[in-house]
Amino acid sequence: MQYWSAVARRLSPYTPGEQPRIEGLVKLNTNESPLPPSPRALAAMHDAVDDSLRLYPDPESVALRKVLAAYHGLGVENIFVGNSSDEVLAHIFPALLKHDEPLLFPDVTYSFYPVWANLHDIRTETVALDDDLRVVTGDYRRNSAGAIIIANPNAPTGVALGRDAIARLVAENADIPVVVDEAYVDFGGETAVPLIADHPNLLVVRTFSKSRALAGLRVGYALGAASLIEALSRVKNCFNSYPLGRIAQAGAIASVEDEAYFQASLKTIVAERENMSAQLRDLGFSVLPSSANFIFARHPGARGGELAQALRNRAVLVRHFNLPRIDDYLRITVGTAEQSEKLFAALKDILK
Ligand SMILES: *Cc1c(COP(=O)(O)O)cnc(C)c1O
Repeated sequence: MQYWSAVARRLSPYTPGEQPRIEGLVKLNTNESPLPPSPRALAAMHDAVDDSLRLYPDPESVALRKVLAAYHGLGVENIFVGNSSDEVLAHIFPALLKHDEPLLFPDVTYSFYPVWANLHDIRTETVALDDDLRVVTGDYRRNSAGAIIIANPNAPTGVALGRDAIARLVAENADIPVVVDEAYVDFGGETAVPLIADHPNLLVVRTFSKSRALAGLRVGYALGAASLIEALSRVKNCFNSYPLGRIAQAGAIASVEDEAYFQASLKTIVAERENMSAQLRDLGFSVLPSSANFIFARHPGARGGELAQALRNRAVLVRHFNLPRIDDYLRITVGTAEQSEKLFAALKDILK
C-alpha cells in the first residue's frame, strides 16, 4: 500500500459473481444467458477477424449507433455506446450524476451504484423500497436531490415498474437527471425509451450481456437527449477513444439485426422462468414477481446464506447477497430446463 494514491486507499470495489471452473457446475449466479448468441452475430464476428484488425476501430462506433438508433426509433445523436453497460454507467456517474446535492437510488438495488459513487466522490442517499420490495417513485421527490438512478426491472429483486410510473418519476424530477438502467427490460419490463422524446432529463441504459447472450463481448449503450449523450462522450473521450473493438461492433450490429432469433430466445427464457417460479412456490418459497431472467426468492425454513452454501456443495451456484433486508433471499438465474431439473433435485435434497 506504500505506493497507493489516497483514491486507491479509500476504494471499496464491487465483487462480481464468481466464475469458477468446476466440471458439471450448474451456474445460475451471474444472469448470463443459458442460450448461445445469435448465429448471425457469431458469423459476423468470425468475418471481422481479418487484416483490418491492424487498424483502430471507428472511435464513435457510428455504424452500431445507427443500427441501435433505427431499432429504437431515435437518432444517432441519441445513442452512446461503450465496452459494457458497466463502463457506460461508470461514465454516467461523473458526467451526469455528480452534483452538490446527493444522488438518490433505492436501498436495495445494483450494488455497483454505491461503488461508482464512492470512486467519484458523489454524495448519496438511499430511498427505501416498500415492504414488497417495490420502488415507490413518489419517495424520490426530495427537497434536495442532485440526480436519480434506478434499475428497472430492479436488481436483484426482478420487480418492475410500469412505464407510467417511470413517466411520473421523470416528470416530477424534470430539474435533475434521471437514469433508468434497463439491463433486464427485454425479459418482460416496459421500456422507458418512448419517454425520451418528451423528457430531456431521462437517460436509459441497456446491455448486450443478458438478453442478447453476449456477456463475453462487453457491449452496452445509453439512450437519451443529444445533450446528455454529449456529456457522456466528453467523459469517454477523456478515458478511452476506442472502447469498442472491430469484432465487438460487428457482433453487436448483427445481433440487433437478428430480431427473430432474439425474440425466440426471450420466449424460451420467460417460459422457463415461469416454470421455475411455480416449482419454487411448490417447494414453499416466497417468490417475488420477476420481469427479469432471474428469480429472487426466500424459503421460510432456511437462511439464505446456508441455502446458497448447501446448493454450492451440490454443484449448483446461485447468488446470495449478505445485505440488509435481502440476506434471506437467493437470486437464481433462469437457466435451461435441464439446469432447472438439477437445481430442483438439489433443493429437494436440502429441504427434505
Ligand atoms: C448485469 C448488469 C449490468 C452490467 O452489464 P454489463 O453490460 O455486462 O456490464 C448493469 N446493470 C445491471 C442492473 C445489471 O444487472
